[in-house]
This record gives sequence, structure tokens and C-alpha cells, in this order.
Amino acid sequence: MSAIDGLPPLREVIAAHGLSARKSLGQNFLMDLNLTAKIARAAGDITGADVLEVGPGPGGLTRGLLAEGARHVLAVEKDARAMGPLAEIAAAYPGRLKVLNADALEIDPVAHLTPPIRVVANLPYNVGTELLVRWLTPEVWPPFWQSLTLMFQKEVAQRIVAQPGSKAYGRLAILAQWRCEARVVMELPPEAFTPPPKVRSAVVHLVALPEPRFPASAATLQKLTATAFQQRRKMLRASLKGLHPQIEAVLESVGIRPTSRAEEIGLEQFCALSRALDAGGQAGF
Ligand code: SAM
Repeated sequence: MSAIDGLPPLREVIAAHGLSARKSLGQNFLMDLNLTAKIARAAGDITGADVLEVGPGPGGLTRGLLAEGARHVLAVEKDARAMGPLAEIAAAYPGRLKVLNADALEIDPVAHLTPPIRVVANLPYNVGTELLVRWLTPEVWPPFWQSLTLMFQKEVAQRIVAQPGSKAYGRLAILAQWRCEARVVMELPPEAFTPPPKVRSAVVHLVALPEPRFPASAATLQKLTATAFQQRRKMLRASLKGLHPQIEAVLESVGIRPTSRAEEIGLEQFCALSRALDAGGQAGF
């Protein structure tokens, strides 16, 4: 099958560069360029945008983004073995692809990008979750990006869009929905990847809101939700005891029953509690 970009099929690229998938790097590659173009389209209108792609691997999704018209793509990849395939893609799209051989957790890519910026990534879920939380929690909002289009294992995607009262509801749902419109836009079976992972995957699309839905400090909301959901079955008066000497009174002051559990509390109430803790001036908050 010859591809629309004149580059060889991904299977050949991977074989020619000895890019066998490594478990230690969470490598499960997308091989179908029709599918990667579809994921690129899920990122919204990328034609006038710079795209930050994290973890391009052999470049299936990178090719999708360029073919769909991204103005520039900055691809950050840890695995040096992927540099050859990515250089070939850069040559096929002159001046539009820049590649950094780096750990995405260690670098700040913003200096390489011009707004509007959209982020697209298919990463191992631990790296993806860590980056997602960082992207969602700068103190200053709006952030450097307009949207995030991220592949996760389906269970993590469900946690991002979960509503109160469900098992999946927790810190990720609160941080994501506080400042973004978040939707699951695609589901993929294990066979879409080589090698196939054990679980289904899903693509989540998050669009940054101009302002957070409710005022709160990002650092406080993050610490509060991490603490509240660490022991999600406990009553809040117990799980949050370490945050304030009069936690029951603080909970009651914002209309939360001290005997309720974290998963019963909506976003607005968590933001109110976060502000009340900040007003209390406790150390660490
Ligand atoms: N995007 C490609 C695709 O869809 O076929 C590859 C996806 S594979 C699941 C994850 C990629 O992220 C691998 O290429 C891996 O080397 C890269 N990666 C893992 N950890 C990384 C990190 N900390 N920084 C940058 N890239 C990373």
C-alpha cells in the first residue's frame, strides 16, 4: 500500500530502522495511516496551528498530523531509534516538522512553538497522566495550548470525563473538567496497535475554557483532591483531617456534610472547599 505522503508503509519503516517495540518505553505503535489521520482530525482544525506531538515513535500519527495540514509539528521523542524515521518524515514535509530527542517530562517545549498550539499524544499511560496533570494545573490560565487530544487506556479516559457518584470519578475528572470541556471522541480495540496492548484504548479531546468554571488555586485543588481520593471510601472529616484542625467546621461552612465521601462531591463544592482552605491560611495550602 503506498501512502499519500510518498513515504514507505510504517511496517517497512519499522523493519528498516530496527524499531522493534520496547515494553520499557510503553511502545504500542499505530500502523494504519487512515486511523492516524482520523485521530489528527479529532484534534480539531489544525491547519493554522502548531502541534506539539509527544511520543511520535515511528511517526504514524506525525504523518497524519502533517497530511491533515498542521502548520508545524514539534515532535518530542525519548527513543533515539526513532530519529531516523522521523528525519525521513521531516524531509518529506520541508520546514514543517521539528524533532527533539528528549524526555517530555524533562523539557519545556513552549519556546519552540507559536500560538495557536494544539497538543496531540499517544503515550504510555503513566507519562500521559503525569503530563496531563501538568498541562491542567498551571497557576495562570489560559494555558499555552488550545486543546489536548490524548490517547489513553480506556479506563483512564473514563476517569477524565467521569461524573460524581461513579467509580471512575476522582482527581483527574475534577482537574480536567474544572478548566476544560472534555470528551471521549474515539475508542480503539487492542488490534489497532502493534504489539496489541491488553486493554482497549480511547482518545480524549480537551478544549481549554477561557476561564476556569469556578475560582480556586490550582495547587490547592490538586492537593485537596489527591488527599480526598487517596482514601475514597472514608468520610471527608477523616480523609481530610490532616488539612485543617477544624476540618468539620470548614466542610460545613461550604455546605458539605462532614460524613460525605469524596465521590459524592461535585466540582463546584471542591472549588469552594479549596478556597475555604486557602482562606484558613493553613501551612501547605
Ligand atoms: N505515537 C506513536 C504511535 O501512535 O504509533 C507511538 C506511540 S507509543 C504508545 C509511545 C511513544 O512514546 C513511544 O515512541 C515511546 O518511545 C515514547 N515515549 C515514552 N516515554 C516518553 C517520554 N517520557 N518522553 C517522550 N517520549 C516518550
